[in-house]
Amino acid sequence: MAQWNPWHGCRKISAGCQNCYVYRIDSSFERDASTITKTAAYNLPLKKTRNGKYKLTPGETVYTCFTSDFFLEEADNWRIDAWRMIQYRSDLHFYIITKRIDRFGINLPPDWGDGYANVTICSTCETQDRADYRLPILLNLPIRHKAIICEPLLEQINLSSWLLNSIENVIVGGESGNEARICNYDWVYNIYTQCIEKKVPFHFKQTGARFVKDGRLFNIKRQDQHSQATKAGIDFCS
Ligand code: SF4
Repeated sequence: MAQWNPWHGCRKISAGCQNCYVYRIDSSFERDASTITKTAAYNLPLKKTRNGKYKLTPGETVYTCFTSDFFLEEADNWRIDAWRMIQYRSDLHFYIITKRIDRFGINLPPDWGDGYANVTICSTCETQDRADYRLPILLNLPIRHKAIICEPLLEQINLSSWLLNSIENVIVGGESGNEARICNYDWVYNIYTQCIEKKVPFHFKQTGARFVKDGRLFNIKRQDQHSQATKAGIDFCS
């Protein structure tokens, strides 16, 4: 799995950010995650190895900006060249998750048109309130590949109004870390049934650290959170 983090650090904007893993990891290194900086990997999509090949191998999915938010205000100017690199590397697929879909249009490249074919934009919605705000925006934007992620899922969410053909999949997960809030299997299953009904692919990614099923609370170790979600057997491909 390739990652590209052109900038690092972020500002919290919604309930899902409360226990942000970027803050958590940075604090363990006594680093302030609210300081936003360009990274040494800013030009990674253009970088080559000594034998002249791209460091990011053609055909790879590149998980982009996972230690920040691609649409952060502080990165507005940096994003101009980031988009150029994304356009130039049409042999890669860039997967971008954001809590700032409402800032998508700022410094969008002039040749964006109805969207680059090599970009997926995935909007986070951790609560009903954030789904109701962000998803209509996502649906109305010119983006070729759209996805929804509910992680950390913090309550039951009705997504059905937004599960249209243009949504390629929905991913759901709990919260990790010592301060993790509860994720209830009933909420996960409820979104799964909405996806079945609307024929939108669904993936239960991970349980999070504190998972409630059948009224019982399970404390689940980090290394088991993905496999426990898989065991639920509720992934769905339309
Ligand atoms: S938007 Fe993402 S990276 Fe930024 S503070 Fe929130 S959870 Fe962390």
